[in-house]
Amino acid sequence: MENLVNLIDLTTEELTEYVVSLGFKQFRAAQIRRWLLRGTVDFADMTDIGIADRGLLNANCRTGLPRIAEKHISALDGTVKYLFELWDGNVIESVVMRYRHGISICISRQVGCRMGCVFCASTIGGLTRNLSSGEMLGQIICAQADIGERISSVVLMGIGEPLDNYDNVVRFLHEVTSPDSLDIGSRHISLSTSGLADRIIRLSQEDLQITLSISLHCADDAGRSELMPVNRRWNIEELLTSCRKYFEITGRRISFEYTLISGKNDSMDDAGKLADCLMRYLRGIPFHVNLIPVNPVEGKAFAAGERDSIERFRDALEKRRINATIRRRLGSDINASCGQLRKKHIESVIPPDIRQELSEN
Ligand code: SAH
Repeated sequence: MENLVNLIDLTTEELTEYVVSLGFKQFRAAQIRRWLLRGTVDFADMTDIGIADRGLLNANCRTGLPRIAEKHISALDGTVKYLFELWDGNVIESVVMRYRHGISICISRQVGCRMGCVFCASTIGGLTRNLSSGEMLGQIICAQADIGERISSVVLMGIGEPLDNYDNVVRFLHEVTSPDSLDIGSRHISLSTSGLADRIIRLSQEDLQITLSISLHCADDAGRSELMPVNRRWNIEELLTSCRKYFEITGRRISFEYTLISGKNDSMDDAGKLADCLMRYLRGIPFHVNLIPVNPVEGKAFAAGERDSIERFRDALEKRRINATIRRRLGSDINASCGQLRKKHIESVIPPDIRQELSEN
């Protein structure tokens, strides 16, 4: 079972080579590819392929597409959250959001996460495994098939640290933008990272026009290290220097995420430090700050401040001529923020004593 090939992981050329190696005629690859891109999970449903050939496929490979385990639709704004089950039983989340300019999807990159950010539900329980590029693509394909509409933009902001699964993420980015795959424009793709500075520099050299989004969340090293352990490996100076290089090489505006947590990083002093540090390292290059009121996570004592304190934080940045917006919360009635649905699902299927053991290991 383990070593079956996932067809959704293959490029058009690789798929052609593969089906020929199974003894099929070359044109079968295009047929199979069409079914895959339409979200057909089972070979049994590929009706223009003969029964014997479908049997041969079943014995040698799988589509590798996920199945919808749960689906929640927000009554407030139409946001759809999927819990997808992968071929090995692991579950991940994706969120489809409707905007005036089109439909956007937020996808996962790993099963779990090992970055340990203290406010984030995705990292509770650590990293189980990386997703393959096809498993990232599969989330978009299956959501698109389910809603029956084209998805026009992708944010890599779901579960997992994308730059901790670097090769698969880069392969995914080349695939998803390819005209014979989903053909989504790279300018409509953004990747959010907790700040692996060396990989940011590597990413700048991949010739991709994607938007880089940095989870900054605190502008002094001691405070950031407390919230985000990754800061102990790459501090703010290294991170922001790598952002400057990313801009110099790609010419793409950088976006910063700043999750506001009451009493931790949301004072006027914090706003001043944020403005100082962005001006110190990024003066003269275009960037934008997204302010996100923290989403409460069960078992963690973090709360968002009042609306007017969040607005004061934004105003303080704007006074220093820093573009800042307060992120609108979509799907707040359906656990739409990162990692929460998977956490709930795991809690409902794994007994508490075993969960305890897993989180200790
Ligand atoms: N590993 C990537 C993607 C994480 S999810 C990264 O760190 O950027 C996308 C964003 O949501 C990140 O900025 C993350 O820090 C933020 N986030 C995580 N948990 C949150 C919570 N409970 N409330 C608000 N934002 C949160």
